[in-house]
Amino acid sequence: MKIDVVTLFPEMFDGPLGHSMVKRAIDKEAVEINRVNLRAFGKGKHQQVDDTPYGGGAGMLLKPEPLFEAVESIEERHPDSKKRVILMDPAGKPFNQKMAEEFSEEEHLVFLCGHYEGYDERIRSLVTDEVSLGDYVLTGGELASMVMIDATVRLLPGVLGNADSAVTDSHSSGLLEHPHYTRPAEYKGMRVPDVLTNGNHALIDEWRHKESLKRTFLRRPDMLEGRSFSKKEEQWLEE
Ligand code: SAM
Repeated sequence: MKIDVVTLFPEMFDGPLGHSMVKRAIDKEAVEINRVNLRAFGKGKHQQVDDTPYGGGAGMLLKPEPLFEAVESIEERHPDSKKRVILMDPAGKPFNQKMAEEFSEEEHLVFLCGHYEGYDERIRSLVTDEVSLGDYVLTGGELASMVMIDATVRLLPGVLGNADSAVTDSHSSGLLEHPHYTRPAEYKGMRVPDVLTNGNHALIDEWRHKESLKRTFLRRPDMLEGRSFSKKEEQWLEE
């Protein structure tokens, strides 16, 4: 997969791209991530990328020409790739695991990071998706795109050590994940549930499913709307 990120702050990506799963994905050549410095497409002696809004009002807006030219430069480098151009936008569709799964199946993702008060509206003519990280306003699209890149890249084949962990992760299965324990078996008077130490994998799977379901029911009942339950699941929820 190819990822291009158009940003005024390419150096912000140094840390997140240099560690853990994203670094592993880059090292394994599962993904190639390129930062496109918007400043390089700025206009005039000062490489201006922003300007005041027509009609007045607070703040500066990213000008259309540098953004268009940055996207065109990606098109020139990769004329044949099928691109999904994703605008970071607090007014966009909320990002979720399903979207990460969808993105992970694409050939080429292009993230556009806004800054200041936002961008000239005409940039939307270039984008395929307008996506929000959540209902709050960040200073720029960089952190939002890094979160989306992380959630997407860890799903690429061969990136996670154990592919099963992505399948059972919260939100992948439609349920929150069950509790986990590791050694020691007892700590400060708190014991690991016996079922996890008895080696019976059928019972362990059943316990995990039950705990996932109960946790989802208690914390995120909205995730269970429209779901049908087996007799056993109904009993668990009544306990
Ligand atoms: N005035 C804009 C508004 O009210 O929608 C907010 C501008 S914000 C300070 C600057 C940029 O950060 C946005 O253009 C967008 O690219 C990015 N951004 C801020 N919050 C975001 C969020 N929740 N999700 C995705 N991108 C966000």
